[in-house]
Amino acid sequence: MNSIVERIALVHDRMAAAARRAGRAPDEITLVAVTKTHPVDVIAEAIAAGVHDLGENRVQEAEQKIPQFPGGQTGLTWHLIGHLQRNKAKTATHLFDIVHSLDSLRLAETLNRHVETLDATTIPSTPQPSTANVQPLVRRRLPVLLQVNVSGEASKEGFDLPGGPENHTHLALFLADVERMLALPHLHVQGLMTIAPLVSEPEQARPVFRTLRRLRDLLARRFPATDWPHLSMGMTDDFEVAIEEGATIIRVGRAIFGARPAQTR
Ligand SMILES: *Cc1c(COP(=O)(O)O)cnc(C)c1O
Repeated sequence: MNSIVERIALVHDRMAAAARRAGRAPDEITLVAVTKTHPVDVIAEAIAAGVHDLGENRVQEAEQKIPQFPGGQTGLTWHLIGHLQRNKAKTATHLFDIVHSLDSLRLAETLNRHVETLDATTIPSTPQPSTANVQPLVRRRLPVLLQVNVSGEASKEGFDLPGGPENHTHLALFLADVERMLALPHLHVQGLMTIAPLVSEPEQARPVFRTLRRLRDLLARRFPATDWPHLSMGMTDDFEVAIEEGATIIRVGRAIFGARPAQTR
């Protein structure tokens, strides 16, 4: 079996080839190495191989692992890619730099509140000198992606939008939620995320990725004051098709680290 370094290089080669096929620049696409179930020494190996973006799907597991890689020193970006329960939202705001799996307005409001109190705890207790040049405290905004289930698969988390923008009933509800989420001052909505259904051929995932991109384009027209740069889509089995359809972030586990012990994906 190849080493992690070799497998990462291979993934980068395949990413670049897919980008070229679509007339895109390879450096538009971020590889998130999905490290769920893997121990810290394996993660350290990936970091040594040049990976900066790491994905975990469970807060409880991430709590054990992420603090072992102190952020300031390492320049790592930790991505939460799995469903987040509201009672874990506070911990998540401490651990993660971006949440891909924002899947309800209620969760958005909870995260917003926790990021706000996170700010409050970092406000210095000593009064600021009243000189003219004091900058106001920069309020933290947590980057988030809205996870959308456009495939209609019953088991998938995410905002429910089977069929995508053409589903007018669901779309109206979704747009109302989006409008309220965009108004939350401590969240920074940066795009969309989806998980394609398990299929036997990567090509079968293409319509799902295309639908997510069309939804993003619609949101960009509807809410032009917000940038909608990111589409987080594509995993080990389908990331090349996702890149051809406009993915800016792909989430890859098995192609880098090999098979995981049996668990839900
Ligand atoms: C596990 C996981 C991945 C990575 O899956 P692979 O098939 O191992 O590449 C990507 N996204 C999410 C949400 C996951 O849970």
